[in-house]
Amino acid sequence: MALLRLRTLGDPILRSPSAEVTTFDADLASFADDMLETMDDAPGVGLAAPQVGRAVRLFVYDARDEDEPARGSMVNPTIVWMSEETEEMEEGCLSIPDTYFPVVRSVAVRVEAVDLTGSPLEVEAQGFLARIFQHEIDHLDGILFIDRLAPELRKEAMRALRDQDFGMAPPSRPRRAL
Ligand code: ZN
Repeated sequence: MALLRLRTLGDPILRSPSAEVTTFDADLASFADDMLETMDDAPGVGLAAPQVGRAVRLFVYDARDEDEPARGSMVNPTIVWMSEETEEMEEGCLSIPDTYFPVVRSVAVRVEAVDLTGSPLEVEAQGFLARIFQHEIDHLDGILFIDRLAPELRKEAMRALRDQDFGMAPPSRPRRAL
């Protein structure tokens, strides 16, 4: 097990679409273990492979604190259904430190994927877990949560990120990021 280096905004890998996983071997399993350890250490509730420098379609998640207990990994995930009903909730990202904004997402999704051995799995999630899945699958397509903000909020986010670069960001509160 090892901690992996988190890539942050500005690193081009975060903007690259990730490739399908085709080899299900011990290396993949140990990479997923390292991702879980890195997510826990951050701490975060989700982490996608490109956030730690590998552009492959794999993410890990942990929503054990929530109503719907769940922890694990998903390989080659696809959202096959998403509810028309949406909700707005504050979101953050381990790759965009100390930045939290409300994002509108579907309240429920169904995801088809495979596990670390290549066996198919299908998970229906709602609430916070559904949000994690949508956020992490976006990462695999090079999409960041700030891209999902309403135009005015996006402007505000970009301003805040610029200020951070000049070291003028306010002290951060401990929050959960994905
Ligand atoms: Zn993220």
